[in-house]
Amino acid sequence: MRIDRRITGKTKILGVLGNPIEHTFSPQLHNTISKYLKVDAVYIPFKVERQDLQDAVKGLKALNVAGFNVTIPYKKEIMKYIDENSREALIMGAVNTVKNIDGRFYGYNTDGEGFARAFKEETGTDFKGKDVVILGAGGAARAIATKVAIEGAKNIHIINRTPERAQEIAELINNNIRRIVDAYDSKDDAAVEVFRKSDVIVNTVPLGMYPDTDAVPVDERYDFSGHQVVYDTIYNPPKTRFLSLAEKKGCKTVNGLGMLFYQGIFAYEIWTGIKLGHDFVMEVFKAFAGLLTR
Ligand code: NAP
Repeated sequence: MRIDRRITGKTKILGVLGNPIEHTFSPQLHNTISKYLKVDAVYIPFKVERQDLQDAVKGLKALNVAGFNVTIPYKKEIMKYIDENSREALIMGAVNTVKNIDGRFYGYNTDGEGFARAFKEETGTDFKGKDVVILGAGGAARAIATKVAIEGAKNIHIINRTPERAQEIAELINNNIRRIVDAYDSKDDAAVEVFRKSDVIVNTVPLGMYPDTDAVPVDERYDFSGHQVVYDTIYNPPKTRFLSLAEKKGCKTVNGLGMLFYQGIFAYEIWTGIKLGHDFVMEVFKAFAGLLTR
């Protein structure tokens, strides 16, 4: 008999807390990275019911886990139970990564960082001095808008079917970072105009996602200039109809797979303090791309 030595008394425990949790790819991602880097850690899923969330966090602390991710539907609620949330996470209003430092839990949000790293990596450009349109005003839009503002965008225009939600994000960033965000009702012509004039367009509206792949997040009045970088946070299908239309007009297009992937990479770096090398990250990305898209 061969003795299984993968988990010992010294192994660090990592995991992901959410519900449902069955479809998460995070255990495979983090355990693969640990295996290749020979880091003595194991990452496991924790399915938690809403009424048990506080007890679960207390339990994770009592068990001295090294860190964990938080996913749907607890990214906001978890913040109440964390000892200290980062400034970015507070502005973004959500925590998806928690690190245990000497028995205290610190909360971070790696969605914005994941988006920014993926965007820079895949487009070869950044947000400095750019005019950025964001479609949608939910959790992803809030994280992306915060990061894009921190990264030096000139203007951010948030377009949403419920303009009040876009206005909420605008006020939050204008009051906490810089006064560069305005909000639009997607039905208004002014929104159509800023869309066309922008340098970068980021879609966070879940229209066009598998299986409703014919849907697009904007109506026919909206048109691309042809010079824009267009990012869709959707990654399944890899090329949404929205991205196809942008591509036909000559725009550079990117899907959301990199964002998903890099938020995980960034979390891993927070927990372990290891900065993952570019070539290694590319190798992992390639291995996981096939797993996540159809
Ligand atoms: P969310 O908080 O529910 O926000 C969704 C936004 O889309 C809201 O602004 C909503 O408008 C708008 N919307 C939804 N259905 C619409 C419709 N039929 N017509 C017009 N607008 C509509 O969701 P989220 O967490 O921000 O996620 C949004 C998308 O980002 C999803 O596709 C998700 O998969 C993707 N995402 C990707 C990553 C990644 O790593 N790639 C990470 C996070 C999220 P109202 O405000 O009017 O309701």
